[in-house]
Order: sequence, then C-alpha cells, then structure tokens
Amino acid sequence: MRKVIIAGNWKMHKNQAESLTFVQEFKSEVEDTQENQEIVLCAPFTSLTAMSKNLHGSRIMLGAQNIHWSDEGAYTGEISGSMLAEIGVDYIIVGHSERRQYFGDTDQTVNLRLKAAQQYGFKPILCVGETKEQRDAGETEQIIITQLKENLVEVDQSNLVIAYEPIWAIGTGDTCESSEANRVIGIIRQQLDNKNVSIQYGGSVNTKNVDEIMAQPEIDGTLVGGASLSASSFARIVNYQ
Ligand code: PEP
Repeated sequence: MRKVIIAGNWKMHKNQAESLTFVQEFKSEVEDTQENQEIVLCAPFTSLTAMSKNLHGSRIMLGAQNIHWSDEGAYTGEISGSMLAEIGVDYIIVGHSERRQYFGDTDQTVNLRLKAAQQYGFKPILCVGETKEQRDAGETEQIIITQLKENLVEVDQSNLVIAYEPIWAIGTGDTCESSEANRVIGIIRQQLDNKNVSIQYGGSVNTKNVDEIMAQPEIDGTLVGGASLSASSFARIVNYQ
C-alpha cells in the first residue's frame, strides 16, 4: 500500500523562533491523522536542530532542503549527510526546480544528491517537472521521462518519494488541473520499476484545492510551499477530506 506523504517546503522562510511557534500550534492540529500518512516539515538548516528536539516523540517528521554528495570538503554553502544525520533529519528534498534554476543543479548532480541521501538513510523527495514553454511545446512527457532516467541511475526505488511539480504552477497560484496532475503522475509511475513509490503533486496546493487533488487515484500526497507557512493552513491540508 502506498503511503500518503504531505510535506511542507518552507524554502528560505522562518527563523528558529518562528519555526518553533509554528510547531507548537501545528502539533495539536494534526494529532489524529490516518496511520498510513506521513507529515513532513522541510525547514531551513538553522531551524532543524531546535525543531528536531521539539518534534521528538511526535509523528511529524523533519526534512532538509538540500544535501551534498561528499561527506566533507571545500564546498562553501553546502551541507553533508553526516551533518544532517547528527541533527536527526528524516527526509531531504532533492532537485527542486529552484535549486535547478538558480543554483546550477543538473540531472547528474541531482542523481549524486539522491544517492547521498539514501546512503545516510534519509528518504529523498525527488522533484521533477516541466516549464511553461516545455508544456506549451508538448514536451512535458519527454522532459519528465528524461529527468527520471537521469536522476534515478543506481537509486534505490524502495526508499524514494517523487514530487511532480510543474514549474509554472510553483508559487504562481496557477494550479495544474487535478486530472492532468493525475495523468502525468500515472506516466511517472509507468517509468518506475517499483510501482509502490509514493508520488506527490506540488504547485500552488492550498486549503481550497487539496481535497480535489488528493481525491485523484495516482496522487499520494502533496509538496506544499506557500500554504505550508501558516500552521492552520498546513494543518487543513494535512487533514484533507
Ligand atoms: C514548492 O516549493 O515545492 C511549491 C510547490 O511551492 P508552492 O506550493 O508555493 O507553489
């Protein structure tokens, strides 16, 4: 049975105090979620240690937003698996379009980051998706198939989550139709050897559209940016109907 995974990606938002305030409010609102469901907060590095202590014993899991493939070295601004292991992180977002677009991540470095995450026992959330231009040119399927092929070389599919995140839908309020997200996620699943990988949809998910998105048979969860910054909104998303 595929797990439902609802993850919040805070990106570069919330200092430590704000993160802990969020956790305090959020915890009580998500106590009664279904057993087959995981809730993940992917916070900035500076909040992870305090959040890890605070979330201890709760069912909310912690995620980071990046990982380097080396254990240590001259990689200014990067973070290694052993550093994240010390904190007690469960999930790592890998290959988010903002990392690919602004920080030079390629399909090859995404592959290295995925393997590093698995080597340290974290569960990576691999993000794939097309730009508006690629969609308009009818290239969506090909782009996604190529990303998967290159990103998943020697990656263990039994410890993996994939997020389909059409880039034009991220942070724009322009959500992908739920039936279309379902169709593309079906195509992603066809490419996988392991059909039980949980596949999320991400891109302007909010309290109003989450129920329809989660009603789609291929969609196993959501990766949520903007709407995960408010504890009450994100709790409503976690408690989708
Ligand atoms: C994201 O950053 O992964 C994302 C989906 O953002 P938003 O929900 O704000 O579109």
